[in-house]
Amino acid sequence: MADLLTHVAIAHLAARPAGPRERALVLAGATLPDLLYKGFYFFAGSPTWYCEPTHSPLVVPIFCAMIALLFEPALRRKAFACLLVGAWLHILVDLGKSYMGHGVILWAFPFSMDRVELGWYSPYETLWLMAASAALIAITELVARALRRS
Ligand SMILES: [Zn+2]
Repeated sequence: MADLLTHVAIAHLAARPAGPRERALVLAGATLPDLLYKGFYFFAGSPTWYCEPTHSPLVVPIFCAMIALLFEPALRRKAFACLLVGAWLHILVDLGKSYMGHGVILWAFPFSMDRVELGWYSPYETLWLMAASAALIAITELVARALRRS
C-alpha cells in the first residue's frame, strides 16, 4: 500500500477536471481500499488474508455500491462511478509497489487467489512518494488556478 497522501494526490490529479462533488467522491474512493483494510484489520481483528480482498478490483465495486446507497437515488449512479474510479486508481497505485514478491492485489478474487505486484517501488520509498505527492497536489492546484484565470 502506498500511503494515503499518494493515493489522494493521484486521485486529485485525475479528478481535477471534474466538478467539486465528483472530485470529492473520487478522493473518497481513492482512500476506500486502505480504510476498509485497516478497518477490518484493526477494528474487526480480522487476519490479513481476510482483509486483502479489499484490494481486489472485483470486490471494491460491492463496497462502492453499498456506500452509493447512502446517497439520494438521483445521485447513486454518479456516486458509485466516482467512488469506483477512485478505488480502482488506488488499486493501480498499489499494484506498482513491491511486496517482496508476494503481492496483495487479488486481481480476480473471488475466482482466483493469485496475487500480483509490479514491484516498481519499495515500501521504503514511501517517504519520498509522500513528498512528491504533496508537490503533485500543489502543482495540480497551481496549474488549475492558472488555467481558470486565462
Ligand atoms: Zn492500498
